[in-house]
Amino acid sequence: MPRKSEKKKTGAARNQNPIGINGGAGGTVTDISGQGTAKKLVDVGGMDELYRGILEGVGEDTQREGLLKTPYRAAAAMKFLTQGYTQSLDEILNNAIFEEDNNNMVLLRDIEFYSQCEHHLLPFFGKCHVAYIPNGKIVGVSKMARIVDMFARRLQVQERLTNQIADALEEALQPRGVGVVAEGLHLCMIMRGVEKQHSKMTTSAMRGTFLEMPTRMEMMSLIRNGGDVF
Ligand SMILES: [Zn+2]
Repeated sequence: MPRKSEKKKTGAARNQNPIGINGGAGGTVTDISGQGTAKKLVDVGGMDELYRGILEGVGEDTQREGLLKTPYRAAAAMKFLTQGYTQSLDEILNNAIFEEDNNNMVLLRDIEFYSQCEHHLLPFFGKCHVAYIPNGKIVGVSKMARIVDMFARRLQVQERLTNQIADALEEALQPRGVGVVAEGLHLCMIMRGVEKQHSKMTTSAMRGTFLEMPTRMEMMSLIRNGGDVF
């Protein structure tokens, strides 16, 4: 399709009523395909209009071609990055807890996480190591990573993220102990403010037997000996 007519159509779709999948229930589900095709759109709940305001706020021309779809894209991205608000521990674990007579440490290391700091809405990201010592119950290993995602995809501070992961595992398994260590790079520190490019923040949350030195040391040595942490 020629560029000019595509532009026109996109603009028209925005000004008319959304052809939305959710019947326009308060949201502005805009046809951004420019072709009226059945491309599935996310209901961004009106956030696209707010992003349009941000673009205007920084002095941009929201009608220039490169930005026409940006409000919707940014809103849809924000929806994705905060989808943890709509998830629950029950839904995520979904019967993936098994009885098992294992009293040895289970450690999943190097779980990537991507979150946003609640102070600046800028990303912080890194790796998280989650360990527990079972007390008759274990959880499917992929679920440990999904628990990390559920809490990371919210507005966060790293300290709370670390604690919430530990609390969730404790609640789900009632294990002998839980240990969570997270290492994160914070773009609010790197791109603005003090501009410290290489500072990593490390946080930990220890519960039960992980409060005792031998267990904690065992976890730390497993994390280290498994290869480079970053
Ligand atoms: Zn921040």
